[in-house]
Amino acid sequence: MQFIDLAAQQRQRLQNGQTIREAVDCRIAAVLNHGRYILGPEVDELEATLAAYVGVEYCIALASGTDALLIALMALGVQAGDEVITTPFSFISTSETIAVLGATPVYVDIDPVTYNLDAGKLEPVINKRTKAIIPVSLYGQPADFPAINAIADRHGLAVIEDGAQSFGSEQQGRRSCGLSTIGTTSFFPSKPFGGYGDGGACFTEDPELADRMRRISRHGQEKRYYHTDIGVNGRIDTLQAAILLGKWPNFAKEVEARGHIGAAYSRKLHDAGVTTTPQLMSGNTSVYAQYTVQLDKRDDVQAALKQKGIPTAVHYPTLLCQQPALRCEHSVCSGGCHTPIAQAASERVLSLPMHPWLSEADQDRVVEAVAQTVQQNSIPSAA
Ligand SMILES: *Cc1c(COP(=O)(O)O)cnc(C)c1O
Repeated sequence: MQFIDLAAQQRQRLQNGQTIREAVDCRIAAVLNHGRYILGPEVDELEATLAAYVGVEYCIALASGTDALLIALMALGVQAGDEVITTPFSFISTSETIAVLGATPVYVDIDPVTYNLDAGKLEPVINKRTKAIIPVSLYGQPADFPAINAIADRHGLAVIEDGAQSFGSEQQGRRSCGLSTIGTTSFFPSKPFGGYGDGGACFTEDPELADRMRRISRHGQEKRYYHTDIGVNGRIDTLQAAILLGKWPNFAKEVEARGHIGAAYSRKLHDAGVTTTPQLMSGNTSVYAQYTVQLDKRDDVQAALKQKGIPTAVHYPTLLCQQPALRCEHSVCSGGCHTPIAQAASERVLSLPMHPWLSEADQDRVVEAVAQTVQQNSIPSAA
């Protein structure tokens, strides 16, 4: 059994009869034939396709989800001395990009039910240095944007959704990445809409921000060899855009399958006595980038499952505020972070195998193994 089965993905058949592999091969051949490897026509096509899907005016396709966050922050003018409020319970990129710019990540604890930033704890940490808020739509469901946006509006702050794990999910009928000032996502292979390499994108309704993000991603170049902004080389490869376009026709089906598999997991785990399954905020759907449960003696359960041939992962064992690179002695520090709910979650979460092609039989095997191990662990040993 695989944690995420990307080989099975290539075998999926599209509506036109081609497999994903065949569609991707065709798309790659087209690029090799026209030879426009940098900002070729596939990049424009991908951007138009994804902007329409998310329901916003602008999409800028980029080299990675990390570049998308960096470029979004740069476009908002975040610089040394600024503060950006975010969650400590995420992948490194969310804080790393703030720190790269010399700004300070300020951490707010998470909601214990959704694992996403607790909007109720935002207001006390906002001050005159605060420039932006980066909520992460963790594990596949959007953070609480109605509440976060209302607070941001009151204080004149921008909101960047880190939607690396939530692309394809919805909140009150609107799609993730189109829920705030800027949405960012990642096309890393294991993400809900993954390519076969690195990629990412920014989304916005704001024409000026779109313009700035596009320029920054191309060395701040306004016209050939004339640079108006400090930028980066953050473009997506034409080849990667082509691969993503080859896979795109199957994406809606994958989102649907993810929803079904996530719901079936929860039903089966509850039936087996494991009740700490993911909970969706009202009005949200999830693409279950991770299907994550909470367990006592998590590390023991993980080891036992490994013995049974079931791969699992911990997202994430170390909070961002405790990462050596981000601790106070290495960067401007806002006084550490007191986030006990995130801390407790980091000690208890376990992500189970999850992908759109997970068979019913494999799912049953996982559920049975988890239930069995949890039961054994809860019986005090005779010794
Ligand atoms: C994967 C991920 C990123 C980074 O995306 P890359 O494309 O790997 O740079 C950022 N934030 C979150 C929450 C992620 O899961």
